[in-house]
This record gives sequence, C-alpha cells and structure tokens, in this order.
Amino acid sequence: MARILADGLNSPHMPPPPPEDFSPATLLTLVFAAALVLGLALKFWLATRQVRHVARHRAAVPAPFAKRMALAAHQKAADYTLAKVRLGMLDMVVGSAVLLGWTLLGGLDALNQALRATLGGGMQQQLALLVAFAAIGGLIDLPLSLYQTFVVEERFGFNKMTLRLWLADALKGLLLAALIGLPVAALILWLMGAAGRLWWLWAWGLWMGLNLLLMWLYPTFIAPLFNTFQRLEDAALEARVSALMQRCGFSVKGLFVMDGSRRSAHANAYFTGLGAAKRVVFYDTLLRQLAPGEVEAVLAHELGHFRHRHVIRRSATLFALSLAGFALLGWLSTRAWFYAGLGVQPNVPLDPALAAAPNDALALLLFVLAAPVFVFFVAPLFSQQSRRHEFQADAYAVAQASGADLASALLRLYEDNASTLTPDPVYAKFYYSHPPAAERLARMPAPAHP
Ligand SMILES: [Zn+2]
Repeated sequence: MARILADGLNSPHMPPPPPEDFSPATLLTLVFAAALVLGLALKFWLATRQVRHVARHRAAVPAPFAKRMALAAHQKAADYTLAKVRLGMLDMVVGSAVLLGWTLLGGLDALNQALRATLGGGMQQQLALLVAFAAIGGLIDLPLSLYQTFVVEERFGFNKMTLRLWLADALKGLLLAALIGLPVAALILWLMGAAGRLWWLWAWGLWMGLNLLLMWLYPTFIAPLFNTFQRLEDAALEARVSALMQRCGFSVKGLFVMDGSRRSAHANAYFTGLGAAKRVVFYDTLLRQLAPGEVEAVLAHELGHFRHRHVIRRSATLFALSLAGFALLGWLSTRAWFYAGLGVQPNVPLDPALAAAPNDALALLLFVLAAPVFVFFVAPLFSQQSRRHEFQADAYAVAQASGADLASALLRLYEDNASTLTPDPVYAKFYYSHPPAAERLARMPAPAHP
C-alpha cells in the first residue's frame, strides 16, 4: 500500500531508520497506556464509591420511600446492585488485560502474521483476521457472560433462560452476524482499498445506510427470530392506549405484546420502526406488573421522547460522531506510527516488486480497540444529556397522563427490577442514563398506588 510506504515505513530490504528519542509511535504508546491506566483507575474509584454508598444505605429504606417499599425489596436491590458492580470490576480487569494483550503485547500482530503466512495478503486474509479477532474476543467474553446470566441473574430470580435457549440465541446471533456482518466488512475493506483517499466518506455512507436498513428490518424480520409478538388483546387497555396516542397526536401501526418473560423477569416497553411503520411493544412482564393506568403513564413517557425529538436528535448526534470517527480512521490508517504505536508491525511488501499487502483490517481493528479508551472520558456528557431527556419525557407524561400513576409505575419498576434507590451521586452522574429515582419522583405528584 503506497500511501503507507510513502509515510516512512521501512521494508525488510531497506536499512532501519535511525532511532529517535521520541517518535510519534512512542508518543502514541505512552498516551494510550496513560489513558488506559487513568481510565481504569477512574472506573475503579467510581465502582468502589458505588459499592460503599449502596452498602451503607442497605440497612434501612430511605425516608421518602419508607411507606412504599418493603425492607426486603430494598435489600434485594442493594445486593443485586453490589453483585453487578463487583462483576463489572472483574470485567474491567479482564477487558483491560485483553486490550493490552491485543495491542502493546503483540497479540494482534501475531495473529496477523500467522494468517499472512498461511493466506497471503489479500482480501481473504483480511476477512480472516476480522473473523478470527471476533471469534477469539467472543470466546474470552463467554465465561463472564454465562456467569452473569446463569449465576447473578439466576440468584436474584431474573433469569428465565435455559441453556438450550441460550445456545439457540447464540447460534441465531452468529448466523445473523455472518449474513450481515461479513458482506458489510468485505465491502468496507474493498472501499478502503479501491475508493481512493476519500474512502472513509463512502464507508460512512455505507454504515449509515446499513443502520437505517436495520432500523427498518429489525421489528419485522429480526426481532421475531428471537421473540413472539402478539397483538395486544386486552380491549380495555387498548382503548386506553389508543386514546392517549390520539390525544398526543401519534398514529401507530400496532400495539404488540412480546414474550420477554422467556428470557428475563425484567420489564420494559419500547417503540420501534421508522416513520409510519412505528409500533409499540410491551413486554408481557410489564403488563403483569403494572395497572392499566400505570402502563398508560409509561407509554406517555415514551411518547414524550418522540414529541421532544430525542430519538431523532440522538440519531443525528451518532451519525455526526461516526462521520468524525471515520474521518479520523481515514487519516490514522495512513500513518505508520498509528500501527507501531499500538503494537502492530504494518504489512510491507514481501518482495519490493509487489504492492504491499493492505493494512485495512488492521487499521479497523486497532481503531475499534483504542477508541473506547479515549471516548470513556467524555461518556458523562452523554449521560448528562440523556438524564435531561428523561426529565423532559417525565414532564410530558405528567401533563398527558396521570402523574400519580407514573410515580407508582416508576416505584414498581424499581422494585421489580431491583434497581437501587440509593446510588452514589458521583457514580450516577458519570454513568446513569436515567436520573436516580428520588430525583425523578421529586418532580411528580405522590404515587397513586401503594
Ligand atoms: Zn425514558
């Protein structure tokens, strides 16, 4: 690949460049390692705060909720939160070790060299590199993911999956990834090699197109592979929900109930689809846990997200950020120090008469590995915006439906999902996409149901 060679890459036939004290590659290594260590320290500090705060408030239900929540439920929420945060800490350690292993310790480099030795340097090798990377990563993640579902979720009574269902899900997921992911990966690799300097603009367009296509495909073709959807049959609830939607000026293609209880006791409701194809999906668990007025209030909250254009604004932000990401990748992929600084020796021609083997798959993987290390530090900005949106959606629901019903629905969902009522304030500011329960309830009327 000429653009990399022009940038100062040495092939085995050239003498090595004179050593520099502080090359761009060394600088990248240092910055990357520093961000990794700093991020890990910050994550640990936050997790420790959360553990201490939740444990300290475990003994008694906080005063504002004393009449509404039993001590046993409060303590279950505390224990569940602690178990999840502790598992998260283990996950951080494993994740950071794996990241170091892939990058600075040379794992990706070794994998790339091994595949190049057997497959040569073409598209086949690049695709094999992506697949091997995904397969190894998946296998490494497997034990913790199984532990989360079959030990943690199981212990607190949330897991409804059998090993058989888990396996079936995994196989369907793999098949979908192969059917959709492989062609898209091949297309992006081809664009990187064939579309010239502005390949990243084309690749971004392809990526956006794929996202829109999936938004359209998901409710009609993909979700039904994993769950059963039935039309809402409860006529009274349907009349109530339709009246709400009409009042709020929404038309909807259908109201559906999904058998969420097949996998988990956690409850939810969501909107999917684009434009006129919008549908509302209630988890069966939600309908079982909430009174009709509460279901209406929860739906009104979701409508609030639409009315305030949160969904569109969020998508627009993601589109813009991914454009910046692709542009950055387009630039980095032509810099030799980007590879060397992250522990990978870029491919160079084995014979000076041949073109260099492309480094595109390497660039993609290094970018996907390294970017989150830096993005982590701006995550609180996104959490903050999301919490502001939640307040707006709550306010909309209070205006359009019963605020007292919304408050009691919220409390019921907190209880049934074992979400803690006493998170550490700093932890919540950093991570929480939803404001803590006390802050949300403070802006609503008193709960309707005990
Ligand atoms: Zn919301």
